[in-house]
Amino acid sequence: MDQELDPLWCGAAFGRVNAKFQERLKSIGIETVELGPPYDGAPNTVRMAVSGLDDPHSIAYWAGTSTQEVVKWLNAAPWALSKLALGGYRSTAYPYWQMPAIAVAGNTIEDFCFYFALSRMRERVVWILPSITESVLSGSKDEPKIDNEFHFATALANLARGDSQHHAGLAMTSLSLSDEQLEDVRDRIEHIGFRENLDCRFESPGSLLPSEPLRYLEANNASRPRFVSVPEEGIISLFETPVPKNFNRVNPSKHRWISELSISQYHLPRHSSLGWWMMGSGVTTTKDVRVSSAGPSYFCPHNFIMSGDDVETSVIRPSIKVPQPLEIFEVIAQSASLTCAVSDKGFYADESCRKFGGLSHLTSFLRSHEGRAIGSAFLDKSPSLKGDHSKGFLLDDRRYLDYQALKAAIGDLELTTKTIDDLLRRGVLYRGFVLKCQYCKRTDWFAVGSITDSFTCPRCHSEQIYTSTHWMNGEHPSWFYQLDEIVYQGLSHDMDVPLLALDRLRREANDNLIAVSELRYFDGVNKKPFIESDLNCVVDGILTIGEAKKADRLAKTEKEELAIVTSYLDLANRLGARQLVFATTAEKWRAKTLENTLQILVPGSIRLRILTHAELCG
Ligand SMILES: [Zn+2]
Repeated sequence: MDQELDPLWCGAAFGRVNAKFQERLKSIGIETVELGPPYDGAPNTVRMAVSGLDDPHSIAYWAGTSTQEVVKWLNAAPWALSKLALGGYRSTAYPYWQMPAIAVAGNTIEDFCFYFALSRMRERVVWILPSITESVLSGSKDEPKIDNEFHFATALANLARGDSQHHAGLAMTSLSLSDEQLEDVRDRIEHIGFRENLDCRFESPGSLLPSEPLRYLEANNASRPRFVSVPEEGIISLFETPVPKNFNRVNPSKHRWISELSISQYHLPRHSSLGWWMMGSGVTTTKDVRVSSAGPSYFCPHNFIMSGDDVETSVIRPSIKVPQPLEIFEVIAQSASLTCAVSDKGFYADESCRKFGGLSHLTSFLRSHEGRAIGSAFLDKSPSLKGDHSKGFLLDDRRYLDYQALKAAIGDLELTTKTIDDLLRRGVLYRGFVLKCQYCKRTDWFAVGSITDSFTCPRCHSEQIYTSTHWMNGEHPSWFYQLDEIVYQGLSHDMDVPLLALDRLRREANDNLIAVSELRYFDGVNKKPFIESDLNCVVDGILTIGEAKKADRLAKTEKEELAIVTSYLDLANRLGARQLVFATTAEKWRAKTLENTLQILVPGSIRLRILTHAELCG
């Protein structure tokens, strides 16, 4: 006699219909038919639950019926009925065909919830029959027979082999079982399936969450986008919520749906505090409003229906605040009882980006030959021989360069002229003269706007008309160029490394990058920041933090390095960041540094990204 199939296992795959619901369906002329034993025998039920619509042909073969009949069964299951008038939408950015099938093992409530949620977020997710896990845990060595477990084992092996739509592969995971226990489960399944070779790998549950989950949207309504521009002040007021179109009557006290917005080129991170900040009010909770993988989403029609059954008037019309990049980090930090502020270095980087017209323009300059040449020429602090002005003047620790000196650094005449013109227009270089006071003999640089035919010495305050005795070389005074102080400060504080790292992430991002400069994070009232994070950005919706260095190591000593990695891990966990980046402009990271980092960041929900010279400067 067939063993009973676990009702929870079946219900999770097909949905359930209780007697009351059956009665109501009957009252509107819909008959319910029971599948499973004794109607068609459990084997088909098991196979349908495992491969479902992915493989109706082999189910039809085993059931001795037509493929169309199997598709009809599956489409009439209660779970399918609950998707009435909905379509499954998959992001084009998600390579679903490369994704392995997933088998979740374990009989705890956590295992079940993980399986159930995951099976709604992506296809080909299976819960290993609870009786199989149970027999592994109890050490049972029962000889296999042709029963539900056998059909499960063969159907799972079939799923793992892939098909014309999917690559082969199976990932096994569990919240309650150890890797050794998972190995036993795999061995047991192979044994039950009479030595079917089950080629599977073991993965942590966190790593299996899809970046772009499957979404069920109202058919023929989702593909009619409406466009709303985000006003300057960042608040979309009283957003007009779309209402369902495919139902003759929508009863606002019974019908529930979620409205979801996506903001073009501004992929916000999924974070519970952000949804509430953007759309929350006195009557909402973090369950009603949230940022999904697509963008801000909210529960409809409203959590308080006052009266009436007109859906158009009952539906919520939220005002949606779109956060500035820094606000995203401030809100998220606050939810972790932290505060954050842009550091000095971050301020220099922001201002430099603004001068160059954005991150991509600034970083392409920093990577260019002329950019590197100009940067090192202005940062050069080496003393000149008396009377030698080929490297300009070093006055008060700042270098001033004339055309000849810049040409010597860049090498090419045409490129030098073009670069100087461009940087003057951007306010990165300023023109002026280097003049020597005839009284106190002090040499200074004077911006062209600050002088007329005469100049005033800043030390002795003597006004004097400048002549060939005041400029020190040539028949005419030459222009000497000053590098903007903010850009100078940025370069001397190595702002180029985090900027190049951010630009690398921007170039790789499918969608876009939201970035702020270096942030200092403070814990409570502590005046000293507990960490300064060089990289703070959102890459395609993934909250990312990280360190950027010129050297090939994080710190001088081993102990300091370990402390840095630990603080970053701590910050990532508190913010809910899912990616940690370590970037260096050195050729590669020191092997021991990598080893230390990996030792602390055991594979888990935080992805580690290593960047080196080739990625940053290439
Ligand atoms: Zn003077």
